[in-house]
Amino acid sequence: MTRSIPGLHHVTAISGPPQANVDFFTKVLNQRLVKKTVNFDDPGTYHLYYGDEAGSPGTILTFFPFVNAGPGRAGPGMASAYAYAVPAGEFDAWMGRLAEQAIEFDGPVERFGLRVITLHDPDSAPVELVETFRESQAPLDGFHSVTLWEDDIAPTARLLTDIFGYEELGHETEEGGERLRLQAPGDARGAVVDLMRSDAPSIGRQGAGSIHHVAFRAESDEVQLTWREALASAGYAPTPVIDRQYFNAIYFREPGGVLFEIATDPPGFAVDEEAAHLGETLKLPPQYEAHRDRIEEVLPPLKVTQ
Ligand code: ZN
Repeated sequence: MTRSIPGLHHVTAISGPPQANVDFFTKVLNQRLVKKTVNFDDPGTYHLYYGDEAGSPGTILTFFPFVNAGPGRAGPGMASAYAYAVPAGEFDAWMGRLAEQAIEFDGPVERFGLRVITLHDPDSAPVELVETFRESQAPLDGFHSVTLWEDDIAPTARLLTDIFGYEELGHETEEGGERLRLQAPGDARGAVVDLMRSDAPSIGRQGAGSIHHVAFRAESDEVQLTWREALASAGYAPTPVIDRQYFNAIYFREPGGVLFEIATDPPGFAVDEEAAHLGETLKLPPQYEAHRDRIEEVLPPLKVTQ
């Protein structure tokens, strides 16, 4: 197969109470709340989507905020971090701005020749900012990468190279482990996947602050179906196509256990509200519209100023 996955579509994580989450991602990281909806499998819980102005694929970070979520912890078989791309020339300015706001961060450290700092969101989850050489007017240019924590790196690397069309960029040894970097061809956002193996024993647990799944892009419904077939013939068990209102999704477990999704670029976030007013009102999929009053009663109040 000559086709390759261009990069990440979105990353979905779990958080604690939604207000602190909204404040952090809109005010500290200058992301736009591009959609306020509910978890389609649990409509008493929000599903919040942050991204660039348009909610472009490769910039979307989504959260299921559970008011009473227990703390999560990354471990083998889980995505352990995502990284935003800091546009060319803006890295020092970002560090300065964070310091001015008294926002603590770790680093900078150097990884594959690029400086990285790590902030912590209100649930103590790592938020990495990576220096890049890409020009952009946006404060952050969507995702740079995601890190998957694996007991055994090789089978996941094979999935990424042999099926997704990624290339290995190289290994780095870091304190307590190693990291293999892979990159999709082309220059899409979120084209990098790091596979990390750690010597530190840990048992991961989903909860506030953990990453639930990682979604890769398919440019169209037709392309998504070719990925579904390719995965099925390689012995994976992708789900049928599921309508997620803003994209169509298929899900499967990669060999190390991380939940992968392939999500379509269309229709996007302007399908049910005007592009200029994304995220301002609670949007419900058609099956829940009849229950709007009850749903709005159950959801915690949420104030967004952006
Ligand atoms: Zn998803």
